[in-house]
Amino acid sequence: MNSVSSSSGESEERQQMSVQDPKRPSQSDCKAVKLLEGRSRQLSDSRVLITGGAGFIGSHLAEALLARGCSVMVVDNLSTGRFANIAPMTGHPRFRFAIDSITNDIVMDRLMSESDMVFHLAAAVGVKLIVENPVHTIETNIMGTEAVLKAANRYRVKVLVASTSEVYGKGNCIPFAEDDDVVLGPTCRSRWAYAASKMVDEFLSLAYYHEKELPVVVFRLFNTVGPRQTGQYGMVIPRLVQQALRGEPLTVYGDGRQSRCFLHVHDAVEALISLAECEQAVGQVFNVGSTEEVSILDLTEKILALVDGSEPRSVQDDRILLIPYDQAYAVGFEDMLKRAPDISRMNALTGWQPKRSLNTILEDVIRSFSGGDL
Ligand code: UDP
Repeated sequence: MNSVSSSSGESEERQQMSVQDPKRPSQSDCKAVKLLEGRSRQLSDSRVLITGGAGFIGSHLAEALLARGCSVMVVDNLSTGRFANIAPMTGHPRFRFAIDSITNDIVMDRLMSESDMVFHLAAAVGVKLIVENPVHTIETNIMGTEAVLKAANRYRVKVLVASTSEVYGKGNCIPFAEDDDVVLGPTCRSRWAYAASKMVDEFLSLAYYHEKELPVVVFRLFNTVGPRQTGQYGMVIPRLVQQALRGEPLTVYGDGRQSRCFLHVHDAVEALISLAECEQAVGQVFNVGSTEEVSILDLTEKILALVDGSEPRSVQDDRILLIPYDQAYAVGFEDMLKRAPDISRMNALTGWQPKRSLNTILEDVIRSFSGGDL
């Protein structure tokens, strides 16, 4: 890691940072507030810390922030992140990294003391990982977020906290809006530990906002996909694309009629940056996702059509293998039949909406795996 110099002259600015009540302003209100808000730095001048910055989304975010002129610090313990994701940035004069855990108080204190803003992305993610390692999931998500918020509060650093569409659980009020009730399964099903742990993260983040006036924004990412995502922890698109490229059958869990909306990671990064730039986002929760819905079965057919150049196929095709959930995960595993976001809050406040189609996502993922390790 490049040497870390001590900060100077920032604490007063941070202490003056005010927090406004959420009022659902219009996009033009938001822009006006941004123009009038002289106390916060322009994003391009900011020093941004990314926890989990060597991960799939964190590394794309780091690149985008560097391109905007920010100084970027990454902290990652490489548990699911990969050094290869940040390796191309390591020579950049405005990039630094620490291979360490966010629960290392000394490291976090130092990094936070030199940051203007933190994106907290470090978390245990991926349904497979969560079902197989529930203790790791719960501890990483809850203790990690607690450590980040505590350190951020010490230096009054704005925190953007990553949450997940998993918190909506198996509710059937589609599309999911941020203030909807959530419906989780029982505690004997380890899948729900992930949703519950991220809900605690959200509660804690919002509590820091309300009680301590720490500027906090929570965003719930819906299925986010793109180059660098690994299928190792269960994510469906990298798994199916790799299977298709290897000429193996594509594994479809359940009957394949469950549907998801997949967001390109570049769209996700644009959403995160627009939230970071918008003072009125503080104290609120936002859905970040695509509204283009596809069933898993249709997804396999699209992937096979793109990889093989063939017509979409039927379930009978020997390239598609239906696997019962009990075999794919654990006995009694519960899946969501549908998951789609209502993104009107995000759109009204920042003007953001996804630009990239599912086809673009699949082409990018296929290209990223072609010629690489399968
Ligand atoms: N899935 C599948 N085959 C796989 C991996 C996942 O059919 O090899 C299904 C999974 O059961 C779920 C959907 O694809 O219904 C999306 O799974 P993922 O783990 O990517 O995200 P989730 O939406 O479950 O968090």
